[in-house]
Amino acid sequence: MDKQEKKRILITGAAGFLGSHLCDRFIAEDFHVIGMDNLITGDLRNIAHLFKLPNFEFYQHDVSKFVHVTGQLDYILHFASPASPIDYLQIPIQTLKVGSLGTHNLLGLAKSKSARILVASTSEVYGDPQVSPQPEEYWGNVNPVGPRGVYDEAKRFQEAMTMAYHNFHGLETRIVRIFNTYGPRMRLNDGRALPTFIAQALNGDALTVFGDGTQTRSFCYVSDQVEGIYRLLLSDYALPVNIGNPDELTILEMAQEIINATGKRSKIVYNALPVDDPKQRRPDISKAKSLLHWKPEVSRAEGLQKTIAYFKALPQEELKRKDF
Ligand code: NAD
Ligand code: UDP
Repeated sequence: MDKQEKKRILITGAAGFLGSHLCDRFIAEDFHVIGMDNLITGDLRNIAHLFKLPNFEFYQHDVSKFVHVTGQLDYILHFASPASPIDYLQIPIQTLKVGSLGTHNLLGLAKSKSARILVASTSEVYGDPQVSPQPEEYWGNVNPVGPRGVYDEAKRFQEAMTMAYHNFHGLETRIVRIFNTYGPRMRLNDGRALPTFIAQALNGDALTVFGDGTQTRSFCYVSDQVEGIYRLLLSDYALPVNIGNPDELTILEMAQEIINATGKRSKIVYNALPVDDPKQRRPDISKAKSLLHWKPEVSRAEGLQKTIAYFKALPQEELKRKDF
């Protein structure tokens, strides 16, 4: 098939964890993929294998500034944003800008190209939730002026702006609320619990559990997340949809599972709980099940094995770094 006949999709945040897996998926579906990233938290190694393909292009660009793409676009996936708490605490203004100005630029681009756009929202729009599991109808409990507010409020603004383009301009929009997702290509030192614990365990260091470890999360393996996003993009549903794995556990249980899965004998140490750290998080995935016929397929045992294998295969000097 000629390059011009393929569906064309722009993926922002393409060099990041989720963005790079989405590039792989849409290449596999025979799309022409245009990746865009300013590399602020991403890594070109995540997409290096795509550079030789004729149906992949990459542009290094900050999407908080005007975004220009030549030619037709059928779809846009807006995944550019710092995503781990230590990233968005270190670059709070860029985080607010990419969720607000960046989203506005991409909605404008979608409108000018008559493209369908899917934006990456987050379970953080629920803040420290007072209902569990969290259904899409829950309005959340976010502290706008706390340290996490820069991320949570940018994503809440992103959702409001996306719905305004849908309702006012009739743009085809989709909103995915992503719950904690993990897998190969996570950054070893991004500060999120899972890569941190795996690196600590593989190095035989103590695992740093924050607080008493009774806070809960529900971890979704990346291939399940990508499948959910793919189905949502191709659906006709414009309101937000949760995609995540409802298999909830405490962070202390997660730390212990990782120690067991690596076969190491690391200890656990307890550090201070970050400000506004949500006490519980578990998606209600009824909508994804009924609308998209989607549910997670990969067990934590299997997902952890694949993720640990990825980290083990990294160059030793990266694994031995102590900035996690
Ligand atoms: P990531 O940090 O690995 O990837 C984000 C990518 O966006 C990076 O490559 C970064 O360089 C790029 N980026 C950031 N600001 C940019 C800008 N202004 N212009 C261009 N590129 C920019 O994070 P991730 O885990 O892959 O997250 C991707 C998206 O999914 C984010 O929008 C995040 O909010 C959302 N999300 C992820 C999770 C998760 O568990 N991974 C959960 C909820 C939401
Ligand atoms: N966490 C931890 N030790 C770490 C990193 C994180 O105990 O070294 C905790 C963190 O406080 C939170 C949970 O693990 O309660 C998940 O944190 P993560 O940053 O992965 O994601 P988020 O808080 O955004 O869900």
